[in-house]
Amino acid sequence: MRSSNWSTESRHKRGYGSAWDRIRIVVLKRDNGLCQCDKCLGGKLRLLPANEVHHVIPKSKGGTDDLSNLQAINAECHKRETAKEQGRTLRPKRIISESGWPIDQ
Ligand SMILES: [Zn+2]
Repeated sequence: MRSSNWSTESRHKRGYGSAWDRIRIVVLKRDNGLCQCDKCLGGKLRLLPANEVHHVIPKSKGGTDDLSNLQAINAECHKRETAKEQGRTLRPKRIISESGWPIDQ
């Protein structure tokens, strides 16, 4: 029998399973359930509640499910970050006022 360490990789290939669910909960707890994206942490806006987990280095660029590569993120911020990673720019539809509420234009 050869020893191998392919088990983590085959899990990646199957996509997100129950292991991912556990990681997700750990990350959300660690980050206090608040969005950790640059924009939220930048201090311009209030911190948004996070309900998703983001790969800092995208898996497509070799990022892993390691806790150091994961951050809690708000669903809207996640969409924006993902779009950015894919090289598209989302046109902002709304401006957020000082009070933290969006202003419709
Ligand atoms: Zn955010």
